[in-house]
Amino acid sequence: MKEAIGFIGLGIMGRGMAANLLKAGFPLTVWNRTAGRAAPLVDAGAAAGDSPAGVARHSDIIVTCVSDTPDVEAVVLGPAGVIEGARPGALVIDCSTISPATTRDIAARLRERGVHFLDAPVSGGSEGAAKGTLSIMVGGEAEQVERAKPVLAAMGKTITHVGGPGAGQMVKLVNQILVVVTMQGVAEALLFAQAGGLDLEQTLAAVGGGAAGSWMLNNRGPQVIQRDFRPGFTIDLQQKDLRLVLETADQLGIPLPSTAMVFQFYRALQQQGLGGDGNHALAKALERLAGVEIGGGQ
Ligand code: NAP
Repeated sequence: MKEAIGFIGLGIMGRGMAANLLKAGFPLTVWNRTAGRAAPLVDAGAAAGDSPAGVARHSDIIVTCVSDTPDVEAVVLGPAGVIEGARPGALVIDCSTISPATTRDIAARLRERGVHFLDAPVSGGSEGAAKGTLSIMVGGEAEQVERAKPVLAAMGKTITHVGGPGAGQMVKLVNQILVVVTMQGVAEALLFAQAGGLDLEQTLAAVGGGAAGSWMLNNRGPQVIQRDFRPGFTIDLQQKDLRLVLETADQLGIPLPSTAMVFQFYRALQQQGLGGDGNHALAKALERLAGVEIGGGQ
């Protein structure tokens, strides 16, 4: 028999992930802080929980997908939180992107009550959440990862167990360093090509398949040239993740100069009202420094 699932946090990501659990036939209880957002799932057959603790009381496995570190602490450890309702032997899976250090603390607090924990941040955006094609990076005990596999497989396509508690969050942050530093390179290269009078599309065609090729170059490069800055992932969310990267680097005592610089560029763009643009709008920060605009039907 399938384990009973609870789902907490029905935002852009959570609503698609929860819908896929229902489609896969799991008994599902849901809760969202703003209650109205739970209605479509309840209409589709989920039960409505009255609080995170109430969801936990009805569930073997509780999935959380909320915004930031204090929000996970609130729904798991706070008043009427999951910890108040979870039975010994229950499993909490956190799919939010939050601090690795706090993740280890939450895992330890739950362990004291006999409740298991996995950190399982995701990548793949709202589209991946809706289609069930997310990449999921999982930290925690191997036995619980095995137990969670049917649940994770209903929400994602690539599920990778990367280590103990907090390791999933660490790998997610590695992903974010690669995304933004690569985007910084893409933006600088396009600015240089523009200033040098090159045909930008031909330039991309020439370099995209070689050693300099990357997902960011091949997908976001053309969007920058066309000046299409609609978000796949917003600057505001990217900035939250870079804050987590830089806090963690600080705790580890290591310098991350390129990530720190991108963080400052994004901060400037946020101040200019561009926090809702896609993360490839990083190019706009360089354009403003250089007084040169990339693309736009040159
Ligand atoms: P979102 O649309 O803003 O939804 C956030 C959810 O968290 C909402 O359900 C919100 O409830 C809930 N929430 C926030 N603070 C809370 C609190 N203190 N107590 C209870 N509930 C709280 O965000 P999202 O895009 O779904 O992102 C969720 C997580 O996935 C984040 O950690 C994000 O970094 C990560 N992620 C997002 C993407 C993406 O492309 N969007 C991709 C990968 C990973 P209300 O409805 O009441 O506001």
